[in-house]
Amino acid sequence: MISPDTAWLVDVAEASRGQFSPDPRGLYDAWDEFAGWAASAPIDFAADGVPVLAEELGPPSPDPRQIFAIGLNYRDHADESGMAYPDSPPTFTKWVGSFAGPVGDLVLPAATVDWEAELVVVIGRRAARVPAADAWSYVAGLTVGQDYSERALQLTGPAPQFSLGKSFPGFAPQGPWLVTPDELADPDNLAIECRINGETMQKSTTNRQIFSVPSLVERLSSVVPLTPGDVIFTGTPAGVGGTRKPARFLKAGDVVETTIEGIGALRQVCVTD
Ligand code: ZN
Repeated sequence: MISPDTAWLVDVAEASRGQFSPDPRGLYDAWDEFAGWAASAPIDFAADGVPVLAEELGPPSPDPRQIFAIGLNYRDHADESGMAYPDSPPTFTKWVGSFAGPVGDLVLPAATVDWEAELVVVIGRRAARVPAADAWSYVAGLTVGQDYSERALQLTGPAPQFSLGKSFPGFAPQGPWLVTPDELADPDNLAIECRINGETMQKSTTNRQIFSVPSLVERLSSVVPLTPGDVIFTGTPAGVGGTRKPARFLKAGDVVETTIEGIGALRQVCVTD
């Protein structure tokens, strides 16, 4: 059904005869019902599927009410950043204007743009003060993300500007699809990798996170209720460019590939205006 560049997709609104909205946010608002329908729906991809190129796809949750992003969530990345391990998840946002689909160009707005491969969570049920033990049932699915970061802006001024420095257009590509947790052998332990021009820059597993996905849902939802379709960027492992000696940043022509086991891959080609 799926090749690296082409997916066979079914129009859910059509296949469900209008039971479900063609708007992704409407689908997340009815996620439990949708997941139940999808598990038993008589979908025939060969007969009803339409081929879609990866570069035609948008992010799995293109219009979330809330977006969270977590810093310093892998010990080796905290080490390379010269920061202490956090007692609570350092949290910022990436504004929705930075969202993009899984494949395309990345316009570099400066000479200090860095890469951060990240597992991304999409919430499937309203979650308020959810304990970690119950947290997976509030997750609609997982996808691959990049938390592209313009380091100069991120670190400018008396207070760091994480949210702005990470929200230029195209700085939050996600996809290529949302994988429900039950489809993964172990959703708490997925290999994650980032390659630039074929060279491995980041390679880790998500079980090395300081705050696991269930722990993040518990801690975030203890403060702010999470709503269906909300997106959480869960942090990046070691191997970013800014802390290398010498520092390395993205330049025109670089091809960035980000993969997570059991989900798929993102691919951006860096360009300048
Ligand atoms: Zn990040």
